[in-house]
Amino acid sequence: MTDNLFTRFSSPALHRNKTFLAPPGRQAVSFAQAFDQAGRYAQVLTAHGAKKGDRVAVQVEKSAENIFLYLACLRAGLVYLPLNTGYTAGELSYFIGDAAPAIFVCAPRDLEMLKGIFPQGTVLTLGDDGKSGSLLEEAADQSPDFPDAVLGKDDLASILYTSGTTGVSKGAMLTHGNLWSNAEVLRREWRFTQDDVLLHALPIFHIHGLFVATNICLAARASIILLPKFDIAEIFRSLPAATVMMGVPTFYVRLLQDPRLNRETSRHMRLFVSGSAPLLAETHREWSAKTGQAILERYGMTETNMNTSNPYEGARKPGSVGRPLPGTELRIADDGGKALPQGEIGMIEVRGPNVFAGYWRMPDKTAAEFRADGFFITGDLGMIDEDGYVHIVGRAKDLIISGGFNVYPKEIESLIDELPGVAESAVIGLPHKDFGEGVTAVVVLNKDAALTQDQIMAALKDRLAKFKQPKAVLFTDQFPRNAMGKVQKKLLRDQYKDLYA
Ligand code: AMP
Repeated sequence: MTDNLFTRFSSPALHRNKTFLAPPGRQAVSFAQAFDQAGRYAQVLTAHGAKKGDRVAVQVEKSAENIFLYLACLRAGLVYLPLNTGYTAGELSYFIGDAAPAIFVCAPRDLEMLKGIFPQGTVLTLGDDGKSGSLLEEAADQSPDFPDAVLGKDDLASILYTSGTTGVSKGAMLTHGNLWSNAEVLRREWRFTQDDVLLHALPIFHIHGLFVATNICLAARASIILLPKFDIAEIFRSLPAATVMMGVPTFYVRLLQDPRLNRETSRHMRLFVSGSAPLLAETHREWSAKTGQAILERYGMTETNMNTSNPYEGARKPGSVGRPLPGTELRIADDGGKALPQGEIGMIEVRGPNVFAGYWRMPDKTAAEFRADGFFITGDLGMIDEDGYVHIVGRAKDLIISGGFNVYPKEIESLIDELPGVAESAVIGLPHKDFGEGVTAVVVLNKDAALTQDQIMAALKDRLAKFKQPKAVLFTDQFPRNAMGKVQKKLLRDQYKDLYA
């Protein structure tokens, strides 16, 4: 028996003629075509000397070809290492130095740049049009019958670099066992079948679009409408053929602003999933009111895959990320890793087959983020309510300590977000000579709204203890966000760092 994820996805082979990928404007790709092309790519990669455990770094646009390459790496026991397509030469040099890949696959236009920063390795190219690139050319006369590597569950499938908004980016090592267990759990929990068609508009260099979305469909033999990116017009064009959509909260916020979103246009959809950043309770409610469907919010991270999910059947609570998934243990702990009583706020820690094998070549960092009993310290603060649902109150590093008191930004943000005229808010701590940190609200208003600092402060006055009330309310047109829609609080803190100086 092998734990090779590809072997599991491709057998039994009953589904080979079914559509796997449907990229709009291009011919659909069956499972057989994808698996065969992955076999040819695997022949090329191994012919260039890549051996089991070697890293294959990939900076290629989202495309069917890129997914074949991912499958090729799985087949051959190579470690797929996708990189954000926005990374520049300087950033890529860091990843090359750290990961020491055997092969780098880049877009044809980047070949010269890559050769310059990776003279010691093999550089192959792959276009996103199915027609260009040396990998494609070399694959053309290869046999699709590649013997899948026989692997154990602890063999590495992928390294995903964390977004590194605080300090150096770390390579999270994910094993074939990690990815298989999470794909299977989510397939069952979210009731995926081969009749499903997923509308896929997420990037595939991140855990959400690559593993959550793609692996579930591979496990369920479901089809994917593969959009190159999130584009409202394309979403509405593709929606009628889909049954499920996965997105980050910004997708949902933007779709809500479009008059085409209503009960009729989403009637045939059986599931909308949100994750990677907090979904505002208000967005959840508005979505239900407009479409008649409750968004299912889940919580995970690069290092752990998915940890919790709201239920498929049963209450999907706005503002909560649901209960721990089967097989995943989750506790709310104090600074020493001791479980806290239900209802208290503390560090979210998780343990289970979904949790990664550690940071690539960083044993000390790995050791620092695991407890002796195997629980991983997520860095997220949360609490569990009386129904066992998890609520995230923020990242530990975003916790504000003002005058010696802990202030959880989410509590204040939720109150501000409820005020008419507010689109969204981010509460941050800024250096303050009396308080250490001064609680500060940064607010984005809806178009035409004219709320002032005084009005917002007055609205919070009777609802929050004095130490939690913002010392200042600032206004901005939009928040800085990363590719997954996460608000970059660090950038906000940098921007306003002298406010109380
Ligand atoms: P990443 O590794 O880029 O996927 O980021 C993981 C982090 O995103 C988590 O540690 C959380 O802070 C945040 N996150 C993911 N899903 C959610 C969610 N549903 N609600 C709030 N935060 C989330």
